[in-house]
Amino acid sequence: MKLCSVVVPCYNEEETIQIFYDEMQKYITKLSDLAFEFIFVDDGSKDHSLMEMKRLAGEDPSVKFISFSRNFGKEAGLFAGLEAASGDYIVTMDVDLQDPPYLLEDMYKAVTEEGYDCAATMRTDRKGEAPIRSWFARRFYRLINKISNADIVDGARDYRFMTRQMVDSILAMREYNRFTKGIFGWIGFKTKWIPFENVERSAGTTKWSFWKLFLYALEGIIAFSTTPLWIASITGLLSCMLSVIAMIFIIIRRLLYGDPVDGWASIITIMLFIGGLQMLFLGIQGLYISKMYLETKERPIYITKETNVKKQETGKHEEE
Ligand code: UDP
Ligand code: MG
Repeated sequence: MKLCSVVVPCYNEEETIQIFYDEMQKYITKLSDLAFEFIFVDDGSKDHSLMEMKRLAGEDPSVKFISFSRNFGKEAGLFAGLEAASGDYIVTMDVDLQDPPYLLEDMYKAVTEEGYDCAATMRTDRKGEAPIRSWFARRFYRLINKISNADIVDGARDYRFMTRQMVDSILAMREYNRFTKGIFGWIGFKTKWIPFENVERSAGTTKWSFWKLFLYALEGIIAFSTTPLWIASITGLLSCMLSVIAMIFIIIRRLLYGDPVDGWASIITIMLFIGGLQMLFLGIQGLYISKMYLETKERPIYITKETNVKKQETGKHEEE
């Protein structure tokens, strides 16, 4: 019998963990040729999420938990869960049931019968989301697909059913700045996209503020594209060329008409503009350098405080 690991990152989710577990039981019994294990990752929750996980683990030996020393973010949670997973297949999903478990059957079929390496899900709409947020999200997906080679689908969720081989390639990417949506797209493999209609949270509240999402989008661009650097270089080159043309124009005008002393306003505007551009592009360079700085420190992606996953199991796959 093949094992399927379900990786669930949780941050302040005491209300939803039990609901999630109960709901999942209904669907995993339908996939009778798979055994399941749950890996709950407590991402430094400040509520009783860990207690909930431990209680479940006490009742059901297939429930594993990993508890971080602080909040490391969902990306780190996913990574820790994938590392600890020992299944032949691995599912990543949110604990708030916004990733509907009824899709598991189709996802399983896509991988085992239709020859895909991965079944991924995408929302077809953004119901229940602020319009401004949706607007920015759409712009972001357009932009990042244009300027990077990480193929990122608009509305893609981190709800995936993957083969062991695919998960091993994700784990091989040890970068500190983990933009999971980009990593999924970058490693390739054959992916089947399964659309579904947006579902509202089962309980609790979203952990993403608009500002957090905005920064996350910037992180994604910096992590998967060097286009901003190119824009800086090309703008610099263009403004150089423009200034040569302007210089020739000014010299000829001086020779023909003399040198009337005016144009203070235009000079100041141009100076401010160029100064602004320089600061902006220095800033962009700085962002890339700061990412390099963090990568070279080779800090751990997460720190475990408590877990019931045995050491030798982590990241290793037991062949049958
Ligand atoms: N999450 C996490 N660490 C964080 C933020 C979120 O592990 O720092 C988890 C959260 O518990 C949930 C999933 O990531 O299982 C998605 O979060 P949420 O539902 O708040 O995001 P949304 O669905 O609103 O995009
Ligand atoms: Mg959610």
